[in-house]
Amino acid sequence: MKLVLIGAPAAGKGTQAKRLIEHYNIAHISTGDMLREEISKGTELGEKVKSVMASGGLVSDDLIIEIVKARIAEDDCKNGFIFDGFPRTVVQAEKLDEIIGHIDRAVFINAPDEVMLQRLTARETCPKCGATYNKLSLPSKVAGVCDACGEKLTQRKDDTVEAGKARLKTFHEQSEPLVDYYKKQNLLFEVNGLMDIDEVTKSIISGLGEKA
Ligand code: AMP
Repeated sequence: MKLVLIGAPAAGKGTQAKRLIEHYNIAHISTGDMLREEISKGTELGEKVKSVMASGGLVSDDLIIEIVKARIAEDDCKNGFIFDGFPRTVVQAEKLDEIIGHIDRAVFINAPDEVMLQRLTARETCPKCGATYNKLSLPSKVAGVCDACGEKLTQRKDDTVEAGKARLKTFHEQSEPLVDYYKKQNLLFEVNGLMDIDEVTKSIISGLGEKA
């Protein structure tokens, strides 16, 4: 199973990806997480992408394709994978088709900008174990503390109102054309991202099953 998740920042791609990989027993590939790891390790690549990520722009297609190519060659991808935050441009989607033939489905989690902006500024992440929370929809049991490991939660640098607005603009300009790209290939499944988290998961799983 080779899936692509499309959605504005904070639409729930990461949350749904974590649930779908359990259901389908496939690998989770988040290019955003991979890049953040490079930044936290202080690698050359991390240094290169730091400022564009903080400003809400996109990292170059060539660089992203290179890291994706290496990642899908890893062992845990043998049974399939779900891309979360990739492709983000039509050029990336075309390159992906060249590399793997074709994907099985693309899932578009659709939700309005106003709600996404509220959600992303309420988002919190655990820097130690990677768990994600949201003060509005998925709060930790103790405010500001990770349920899983007790670490103090942090906010992503690009989850501010200013960077969030820039990321939404980038999404509409550069990533939304992917909806049409996959629609034309009859691969798109659209889900309402305003439903609660469980409902979105159920809807995706039954939507993907319909075609199987
Ligand atoms: P995310 O965690 O998916 O929201 O990604 C965070 C940031 O990483 C984005 O705002 C981009 O700057 C960068 N990024 C992640 N994935 C891609 C991609 N496929 N193409 C270009 N830039 C990306």
